[in-house]
Amino acid sequence: MTIFSSTRGLDTGTSAAAAILKGLASDGGLFVPSQLPRLTIDDIIALQEMTYQQRASKVLGLLLPGYTEQELGAWIEKAYADFDDARVAPVVPVAPGVAMLELWHGPTAAFKDMALQVLPYLLTAAIQKTGATDEIVILAATSGDTGKAALEGFKDVPGTRIMVFFPEVGVSPMQRWQMVTQGGSNVSVVSVVGNFDDAQSGVKKLFADRALAKRLAAGGFAFSSANSINWGRLAPQVAYYFSAYADLLKQGKINAGDLINVVVPTGNFGNILAAYYAREMGLPLGKLICASNQNDVLTEFLTTGVYDRQRPFFQTLSPSMDILLSSNLERLLYHLTKGNAVKVAGWMDSLAKTGRYQVDDETLAALHDIFAAGCTGDEATKSVISHVLQENNYLLDPHTAVAWSVAQEYKAKSGDERYSLIVSTASPYKFCRPVLEAVSDAPVAEGADEFDLIRQLAAKTATSAPAALARLENETVKHQKLVQKDGLEQAVCEWLKV
Ligand SMILES: *Cc1c(COP(=O)(O)O)cnc(C)c1O
Repeated sequence: MTIFSSTRGLDTGTSAAAAILKGLASDGGLFVPSQLPRLTIDDIIALQEMTYQQRASKVLGLLLPGYTEQELGAWIEKAYADFDDARVAPVVPVAPGVAMLELWHGPTAAFKDMALQVLPYLLTAAIQKTGATDEIVILAATSGDTGKAALEGFKDVPGTRIMVFFPEVGVSPMQRWQMVTQGGSNVSVVSVVGNFDDAQSGVKKLFADRALAKRLAAGGFAFSSANSINWGRLAPQVAYYFSAYADLLKQGKINAGDLINVVVPTGNFGNILAAYYAREMGLPLGKLICASNQNDVLTEFLTTGVYDRQRPFFQTLSPSMDILLSSNLERLLYHLTKGNAVKVAGWMDSLAKTGRYQVDDETLAALHDIFAAGCTGDEATKSVISHVLQENNYLLDPHTAVAWSVAQEYKAKSGDERYSLIVSTASPYKFCRPVLEAVSDAPVAEGADEFDLIRQLAAKTATSAPAALARLENETVKHQKLVQKDGLEQAVCEWLKV
């Protein structure tokens, strides 16, 4: 049976349930499977005749030993029942050789729902499977979309509480509104003075704090994570790559076995890492193309092998990708070095101490073999949104527009003509102001009401807003707490009364 171990080597022999419950390994590393299952091309061809839910149950069953396909099947039916498209993750061809994989039909209109609607089932079952008795406290740092998706997933789930930290500046007005209006008896939402990296490092520190863990345990609590450092977050994301390939086969866009490229707007490296896992499991994927905004730390890394977080942090139109520390890269490095935990731990140590590390030539060659990378600034992002609406009659959100732009640039530079699957990670209606500015080529008045902008965007583009967003108009603010970077621990303890 596949077991999980830490990328830093100390935590080994962990079950899937325990890995999901813990989130982060006790040595600070991330849990990775010791061995990946494989699907044959016949298995993949057979997916064509299945629903998304059936495809996902099959893939998840392989990635979560100790969970049965039957229990997964039941949860997955419930998890995706309220999506506003029955296909769950539809593949929409928009140009010759290009299709969009739309991952934003869930309750929060961004791709995080794909995993965070499933994770609560995995986690509550993990509590039972491991015999844990503590109440689970989910801590999440969010660059905008994870927070709301985690809140929606965990609100009122018995045996759990959830606390979300979001950066005071940077998230879009709609993202903020979605979080501060969140209902549920077990939720807390706190904004942090600083950017996403500040919020994420703050949360990571809490996870690593043994004294705090003891204090929690005395109160009957244990932490877990809903960020993509949690294996339970990644596993459901692998499924949609298989599903998309099956859809392209079914639509006659590709033939069985054809390699396709995927282009992923990337922040914490979770989504694109799921594509890597799908590729390793036998899905015919060619290049995995990592798209970044002006925060181009990943473009530089995937090009040169040098990861250097010591650079200016930009607030861009694609806030969910405003990240300089991409946690999941650690998992990729572990796999590419064939499980050399000593090497990985060394690089991560160097990153923590100096803000920089450089991989060896062999690892860089392995990266180049599989990945390509590019980045796009805000102006180009806006012009892509406008252009694609005119030329292809398709409205992109800013994150997906970054991916579109990088896909074009990659094609032009490499001459690689393989079919491209562009991963569409959010509804444009989560980012009305920049999208409206892009399509109307005029500035939007300061202080304009977000829901007025929704109506304007709908009228201008002949599209409609996801009902899940439109219905937030009459909600009231329920969370107003703001803390300094070093105030996270106190906020947790106050809330839990420990
Ligand atoms: C989270 C997010 C991303 C980045 O995904 P990662 O898995 O963190 O790389 C991109 N786009 C949107 C809209 C997101 O919410």
